[in-house]
Amino acid sequence: MSLDSPARGCRDTPVLKERGQREVFCGLTGIIWLHRKMQDAFFLVVGSRTCAHLLQSAAGVMIFAEPRFGTAILEEKDLAGLADANTELDREVARLLTRRPDIKQLFLVGSCPSEVIKLDLARAAERLTTLHAPHVPVYNYSGSGIETTFTQGEDACLAAMVPTLAATKARDLLVVGALPDVVEDQCLSLLAQLGIGPVRMLPARRATDLPAVGPETVFALVQPFLGDTHAALIRRGARHLPAAFPFGEEGTTLWLWAVAQEFGISRAHFDAVTAAPRARAAKAVAAHAETLNGKSVFFFPDSQLEIPLARFLARECGMTPLEVGTPFLHAAITGPDLDLLPEGPVISEGQDVDRQLDRQHAARPDLTVCGLGLANPLEAKGHTTKWAIELVFTPVHFYEQAGDLAALFSRPLRRKALLTAPIFRPEISRGPGQSPGGQP
Ligand code: SF4
Repeated sequence: MSLDSPARGCRDTPVLKERGQREVFCGLTGIIWLHRKMQDAFFLVVGSRTCAHLLQSAAGVMIFAEPRFGTAILEEKDLAGLADANTELDREVARLLTRRPDIKQLFLVGSCPSEVIKLDLARAAERLTTLHAPHVPVYNYSGSGIETTFTQGEDACLAAMVPTLAATKARDLLVVGALPDVVEDQCLSLLAQLGIGPVRMLPARRATDLPAVGPETVFALVQPFLGDTHAALIRRGARHLPAAFPFGEEGTTLWLWAVAQEFGISRAHFDAVTAAPRARAAKAVAAHAETLNGKSVFFFPDSQLEIPLARFLARECGMTPLEVGTPFLHAAITGPDLDLLPEGPVISEGQDVDRQLDRQHAARPDLTVCGLGLANPLEAKGHTTKWAIELVFTPVHFYEQAGDLAALFSRPLRRKALLTAPIFRPEISRGPGQSPGGQP
C-alpha cells in the first residue's frame, strides 16, 4: 500500500473555533435513515407538532400505513405541567406495543419541548423496559435541536445502545455506522473475500443480530460523526482502528487496508481482492474529476462528513478546499483524513454563521457545500451550492459508490456551466428575398 501523504497535512493546522448562531437541522433527522436500517425498531419522538412536521415532510412517510416512527405530541397542558406526561407516555407506549407486536426495540427520542419541560426520558426508558421486558428493550436519546446537530442523532442513538450490548471475549470486527443495506452488503462481501471475520454491524438490521462487545472487539467506523459511540465502545473495552473513511477509491482502500492489517491479511491477497473494484472506482471518479479539477470548494459545518469529503475532493478530484467547516472535530476519528488533506484550507469547528458567510463571500468558491437553509440565499447571490443533506441520504461509501459521490459535486457545476453558456441560436436558412426573420 503506498500512502502518498502530502508534505504537510492538516492535522496540526490551528482550528478556527466558532461558537455563534448555527444553521443546521436537529438530530431528529437521523430517524429518517435509522428507521429504514433497523427493521424492527420504532422511534417515538416525544415532541411537538413542529417535530412531527419535520419528520413527515423530510421523510415523506405519510404514504406508509405502519411507519416505524411517530411523535407523541406534548400538548399545552403537558408543557404547562398540568398533566403527568409520564403517565400519558406509558399509556401511549402500551397501546403502541400491543398494536404492533413486530416492534422489538423502542427508542424514546427527546426533543426541544421535552428538554425544556425537563421530562426525564432516561428514567422513562428504564421504567418502560421493566414493564415490557423481555420482549422490547426501551432506549432513550436526545434529538433536540438545542443539544444536537443533524447527524448527532445517529451518534446518540448508537451510543444509547452500547451499554446494553451483551459482553463477549471473542475477537470480532465491529463495523459501526448506518449504511444503506446494499452498501453494507458490498462492505461485508469485500471483508469476506479478504478473509476477515466474524464481522458484526452496529446498528444491526434486527434486534436479534445486535453485536456483543468486549476487550477483544476491534471496531472501525464508517461514519465520522460517531464521537459518543466511539467513546462508549472504548468504555466497554473495545479498540478503535483509526483509518481514513471509505469515501472514494483511496479512502475505501485505506479503510480496508487498516482492517486487513489488523487481521494479518497479506498485501498480495489484499491487492488481488481489491484490484478490480479499485480500478472501477478510479475510472468512475475520473469521469467527474474532469469537471471538478482545478475548482475550489467551501464547506459550511453540517453533516460532520466534511473533513473526509474534503480529502476525497482534494486528492481524487483535484479540487482546492478553501475552508472546511465541521460542527465538531474529533482528531481521534478524522485524524487520518486530516493527515491526507493537503495543507491550505481554513479548518473551522462550530459556527458563527454571519462571519462564515462573510468569509465564503470573500473567498468566492466555485462550489459551496452547505445546509438547505443557506443554499437558496447563496444560489440567489450567484453561488453554486451542494446540499449537505444529500451526502447523508445518498449511498456514497465504498468502491461501487465512488463515482456517485463525485457526481454529487460535479452535477451542480455542470448545471451552472449549462445555465451560463451562451444560448445556441440556430441560423435559419433563408430563400432569396426573405428577411433575416424568415418573413418575405
Ligand atoms: S427537536 Fe427542536 S429543532 Fe427539532 S423539530 Fe423538534 S422543536 Fe424543531
